Amino acid sequence: MHRKVIIIGSGPAGLTAAVYAARANLEPLVFEGSQPGGQLTITTDVENFPGFPDGIMGPELMDHMRKQAVRFGATCEYKTVTKTDFSVNPFRVWVNNDEYTADTIVISTGASAKLLGLDSEKELMGYGVSACATCDGFFFKEKEVLVVGGGDSAAEEAIFLTKFASKVTIVHRRDEFRASKIMADRVFANDKIDIMWNSAVEDIYGSKETGVTGVKIKDTVSGELKDVDCDGIFMAIGHVPNTGIFKGQIDLDDKGYITTHPDTTNTNVPGVFACGDVQDQVYRQAITAAGTGCMSALDAERWLEEH
Ligand code: NAP
Repeated sequence: MHRKVIIIGSGPAGLTAAVYAARANLEPLVFEGSQPGGQLTITTDVENFPGFPDGIMGPELMDHMRKQAVRFGATCEYKTVTKTDFSVNPFRVWVNNDEYTADTIVISTGASAKLLGLDSEKELMGYGVSACATCDGFFFKEKEVLVVGGGDSAAEEAIFLTKFASKVTIVHRRDEFRASKIMADRVFANDKIDIMWNSAVEDIYGSKETGVTGVKIKDTVSGELKDVDCDGIFMAIGHVPNTGIFKGQIDLDDKGYITTHPDTTNTNVPGVFACGDVQDQVYRQAITAAGTGCMSALDAERWLEEH
């Protein structure tokens, strides 16, 4: 199947690109990936997306964006791209054995939660270790949980978890938050949240049978080690870009983010554009992702006109 525009990824960047490309009669095909709607589908209230004075639930916002794109002629398919070839135009994209071709590609595959990299973390993922409070918080009713990180995600996850857990402790490696003041203030004002400053998780105790039972914490200043009991641990330490399938095809920076030319969404491959968190490690907001998604569609449209 051939399309003028194939969009890989369906968060705010991909779906905004789809709305714009569809309204330009380019009939874009969106491959939604394994998490249609992207990261906002695993969050709750979105309070800072303009146009919703009372906030909106993340999944609902993404549902609106999808419907808006489809209304103008976009096709959204719940499929994950497994391979790409950008060496010649038309570009080739595979979903397992099915091959698609496109004149232009918009990459909006976003980013995924970063993990600490401990063996025990891997082993106990889903057994008390989680990277998504919205998905798993419910399982920790009246339990004691830790949240690792000091950014807005950690603050948001901790506040959300207080709806279920009896006690939430934020474990942060420094002595001040990276989180915005408004989120930090909400954490400080919440009686159910404790903060363990200058602390790093060295190991996670438990088994698949018992679930998580505790952690080993290292004081990042004194180096002192101690064990802390808990029933669950949530990682909220940032994200890594989803660019594995593009390695060797397109320029990535040292952290794996796609590099785009300043003031455009152009990548080093003419006709391939990137938008949203996959190319942004600075702003990483739904609204900035949507903004660059719009730019990608306009860049693609212009490129198609010129070629
Ligand atoms: P972030 O801002 O990059 O914060 C990551 C946090 O995790 C930092 O405090 C960092 O510590 C810590 N960390 C990183 N690697 C670590 C490691 N290996 N071990 C221990 N700690 C580690 O990421 P984020 O909180 O996911 O936020 C990402 C973006 O989304 C931000 O722009 C944020 O504003 C936005 N966001 C906004 C909201 C909201 O407005 N409600 C909610 C969620 C996210 P250091 O501080 O020491 O570096």
